[in-house]
Amino acid sequence: MQGLPTPEITVIRAGALGDVVLALPAVAALRGAFPGAHLRAVGYPVHWEVAGGLIDEVQSIDSAAMAGLLINSPTESLQRPLGSSDLVVAWTGQNPTAALRAIGVRRIIHAPPTPPPGVHVACWLLQSLAELSTAEGGSVMSNFELDAWRLPYSAVELQAGRRLLEEHALIGAVLIHPGAGAGWKRWSPGRFADTGMALQCYGQRVALIQGPADDEAVAAVQRHAMRPFPVIPPLDSRRLGALISQATCYLGNDSGVTHLAGAVGTPTVALFGPTDPAAWKPLGATTVLHHCLAPSREDGDIRVCDDPACLEAITVEETVQAIERAIVQNRVESRRQTR
Ligand SMILES: [Zn+2]
Repeated sequence: MQGLPTPEITVIRAGALGDVVLALPAVAALRGAFPGAHLRAVGYPVHWEVAGGLIDEVQSIDSAAMAGLLINSPTESLQRPLGSSDLVVAWTGQNPTAALRAIGVRRIIHAPPTPPPGVHVACWLLQSLAELSTAEGGSVMSNFELDAWRLPYSAVELQAGRRLLEEHALIGAVLIHPGAGAGWKRWSPGRFADTGMALQCYGQRVALIQGPADDEAVAAVQRHAMRPFPVIPPLDSRRLGALISQATCYLGNDSGVTHLAGAVGTPTVALFGPTDPAAWKPLGATTVLHHCLAPSREDGDIRVCDDPACLEAITVEETVQAIERAIVQNRVESRRQTR
């Protein structure tokens, strides 16, 4: 890699939005260590679009050309998209090293995408790059802080996010996303509605975020509300991140949108039950509410607890308090920054 004018680096991560967001600190470390590199991601394009300028190209894992990767079998079709890679970083369950070697990839790093118990996934993926060194011989793993990491956005993108909030008359609002990919990660819609109404009582503007798969989750909250909350309709993840970055505070389950909210630096309150925040806590200055005592699992299953009571143990009162604390904290910090 060292000395190559424009090394080609391919990163493979076929996960949902949250998985991609949690891989971005490691992707950003690669970008920082090899600024001239052509960075290609292999995964689901709809989720990788969140990365913005951190990557140069996305290839769909669902394409026929990538079929050989999943079964670790070299195919001619794999040669064209990946054969020119100087480095492939595969965060995959199946180790595709043999298939990649056979098509001429010189350097391959493989790590399973799920961390061992007690290790945060963003740190785990970063650590997988530890053996790489930069052209100057430095470490690829620059100083990384989970709580301080930010997904880069241009000023133009952020302005567009602010305009979108303005169009919905939601400047200063708390945004609530009641959905999550899996039903067992969702706090009850009645509690989301009660939290939103309690915030409204204090004069706080509140709106719901509706992702592409959230029709039912949003409708259920609205059924519990005295008056329907304003709704932000589905947006692509990159624009949604810009919009959330301009919000006063964000509340959500362990979902992809919550990971996005943390990564863009919005004061975020995340409700965790059956998954372990030690491994899956959102990036950024996130407050995690979590009452489950189940230990981490050794088998890599992200669901560590089957008891829905653990998520429901989070009360409306503590959630409202956590949101108010996050808002106050954020005001104090922005005042300190503008001084
Ligand atoms: Zn539990």
